[in-house]
Amino acid sequence: MVSIMETLTIKTENKFRTLITKQAYKMGDVMCVMPSENIMDKPNRFTVQIAKDKHTHVGKLAALNHSCDPNVVLDTERMLMIARRDIEKGEELSFFYPATEWEMQAPFICLCGSANCIHVVAGARFLPLSTLENHYLNKHIREMMIELLNGTKVHLKKLQSA
Ligand SMILES: [Zn+2]
Repeated sequence: MVSIMETLTIKTENKFRTLITKQAYKMGDVMCVMPSENIMDKPNRFTVQIAKDKHTHVGKLAALNHSCDPNVVLDTERMLMIARRDIEKGEELSFFYPATEWEMQAPFICLCGSANCIHVVAGARFLPLSTLENHYLNKHIREMMIELLNGTKVHLKKLQSA
């Protein structure tokens, strides 16, 4: 099994942190196990959401930046980081934040330059389904999306019967 994170290194430039891989990967490779020793009920900038009310402190992986065209996926059911495409040695790693985060504590503007850029990164609940369906989404995000849609349906019914 892959040892945790020893192939990953954090680079800091003008206080901006990036996570760099020291080795190449093929699409689908398991790159590391996500840390899960430190779970809390609220998000912060060092956490990744793994269930509706669970956020895990991810250690070095907190240096992963967001991209709308990312090269890694965080699978929060298996707690693994997986290569979304072939990755070269020395490449910066990134993932699509709304794939794990429902509602982020500190939203920001994305300048990734991808043709599919979502621009405002605030969590999955603020994105249209048509955008989300182009991305790998974790189970808790899909479940919360369904919950939100059902809530909207109930609300609409109430409006119609009023
Ligand atoms: Zn973007």
